[in-house]
Amino acid sequence: MTVMTGREPARVLRASIATELSEFARPPALTFVRCATHPAGAAYARQVSRGARRVGVPVAEELLDEASSTAEAVGLVERLAVDDEVQGIIVALPLPSSVNTAAVVAALPPKKDVDRITRAAIGAVLAGASELAPGVATAVVRLLEHYEIPLAGRRVAVVGRSRSVGKPVALLMLARDATVTMCHSRTLDLANVTSQADVLVTCAGRPGLIAREHVKPGATVVDVGATYTADGLKGDVDAEAVVEVASAFSPVPGGVGPLTVYCLLDNLLVLARAVQGE
Ligand code: NAP
Repeated sequence: MTVMTGREPARVLRASIATELSEFARPPALTFVRCATHPAGAAYARQVSRGARRVGVPVAEELLDEASSTAEAVGLVERLAVDDEVQGIIVALPLPSSVNTAAVVAALPPKKDVDRITRAAIGAVLAGASELAPGVATAVVRLLEHYEIPLAGRRVAVVGRSRSVGKPVALLMLARDATVTMCHSRTLDLANVTSQADVLVTCAGRPGLIAREHVKPGATVVDVGATYTADGLKGDVDAEAVVEVASAFSPVPGGVGPLTVYCLLDNLLVLARAVQGE
């Protein structure tokens, strides 16, 4: 059984980002817009900031709270949109419940949308016009490529269909000629579907959802779920049971997470270069 960690592909990508950054007169800058009190958003910003510091990308944070209105949040993103000192914006979800998330995302200009959550960004991937996808989706593909897991012609099951994780993962797999099945909370007999997959990618955010019976013997399993519990960070997979049947497994923590950070920073560089070229 191969344990697929994101560390080695992350190191390779980090080195290439550092080289590319040396070609910029000034490194592109990233700003997070996030809920001040949500632990997942804070952890996400911390993780990305740590990676950004290592390569020399400046990161700022703009915090919203339950007293923030939609108009304030949209106004903030609109200001960042026209700020020439800011090349990338990440709107970390969830935003405070007082803020209409769709309105904030709609204010995000696609050319600064590092996490590729705007309609234009997702539409471009769907149309096959762009491979620039949310960091986590790119990280899944890079991880599988690094460990030479074939995708073309293989059955891939993706558990989760969110706009920022499940759907883009499925689209990138489809673009690599996999036969993709998307599963979600209304899928009947999940184990019956996932146990037919050669590659199972789970991004539901439900610790323990994927047990031994969900996995085809010899399959590759990538855990993307990241849930903060009283016992620490948990993925979707019952790791102890699944390592007995899978041939390759990417765990949480230590799997796609570290790689996701550098995929995001790579997106920032691609966007900054595109703007420079305009
Ligand atoms: P989300 O918006 O809550 O979506 C969860 C998806 O899982 C939904 O499509 C939902 O189905 C499906 N689901 C929930 N319970 C299920 C069940 N029992 N059986 C089958 N499907 C089920 O979450 P998200 O934003 O996509 O994030 C998913 C997970 O990825 C989270 O744990 C998040 O923290 C993690 N994540 C990790 C990284 C990383 O770098 N490792 C990056 C981003 C996100 P419905 O559509 O039917 O509701």
